[in-house]
Amino acid sequence: MNLLAVLKEIHQEVTPLLGQGNVAKYIPALAKTDPMQFGMAITLNDGQFYGVGSYEKTFSIQSIAKVFSYTLALRAYQNDLYKRVWREPSGTAFNSLIQLEKEAGIPRNPFINAGAIAVCDSLVTHYSPDKTALNEVITFIHECCGERTITFDQAVSESEMEHGFRNIALANLMKSFGNFENDVHSVIETYFQVCSIAMSAKQLSRSMLYLANNGTDPISRKNFISSPQAKRINSLMLTCGHYDASGDFAFRVGLPGKSGVGGGIVAVVPGKMSIAVYSPALNKYGNSLVGTKALELFTTKTGLSIF
Ligand code: GLU
Repeated sequence: MNLLAVLKEIHQEVTPLLGQGNVAKYIPALAKTDPMQFGMAITLNDGQFYGVGSYEKTFSIQSIAKVFSYTLALRAYQNDLYKRVWREPSGTAFNSLIQLEKEAGIPRNPFINAGAIAVCDSLVTHYSPDKTALNEVITFIHECCGERTITFDQAVSESEMEHGFRNIALANLMKSFGNFENDVHSVIETYFQVCSIAMSAKQLSRSMLYLANNGTDPISRKNFISSPQAKRINSLMLTCGHYDASGDFAFRVGLPGKSGVGGGIVAVVPGKMSIAVYSPALNKYGNSLVGTKALELFTTKTGLSIF
């Protein structure tokens, strides 16, 4: 199969859709992003790479970072992590407070904000006092990507910190229920720094290969997580990776995936490849509008879905 030709075809077909949707305005530093951008990248398990459009442009990976944080937390806490963060789709918006109140401060899954903040809190506990959770997440991404240049965008994290009232509320609510171990302010700061890590579609597709190969990076041969744990992360990406549009994403794309409000989406084809797409304008659920369409076209054209 000529994957570059498929990518070029997709690029052509989605171009008329660029401009639909809205960039994430609730984070002022992201509100200025040009909505017309598009990039798509594929890295195969054997290292072959294909890209179209702005695949080397770095952007704020936002909630895609939750996959890396969750991998580290699952590795550190194993099944104990489920006591703090459950594994069920939420059916609510990514930053909703209502369900968390009803369910006594236990977030539904690690990919909604409350769950990711609880995961971040558990990493802060795990790494202190000698190390910082932020550095460990970044170092982990370096290992996954095979590149040491990736870092976070301070302007974006500060902008989130200034306007992060809802996330601070989620953390406080968990604290009130006893599901929070550290200082709310410092965990939220770490959470925003992790969300503001900047990567390109090319780097993201490379970094997620461990999830396409049972927890072991197929290129460096480094083992990051056990095979059953990799299965669980992929399952959560399929069922919870797109907030309350997770069912629609699974229906249309048929792959485990995770989106971020920066406009990125990564998807995993187990045993074969990882695909990342970047297009910053979002649909009403907070997922890249054109990115979702591009992935839908990809699995339809190639048959490379898990179903
Ligand atoms: N930093 C974002 C927030 O907490 C992440 C949301 C997302 O990417 O979906 O609101």
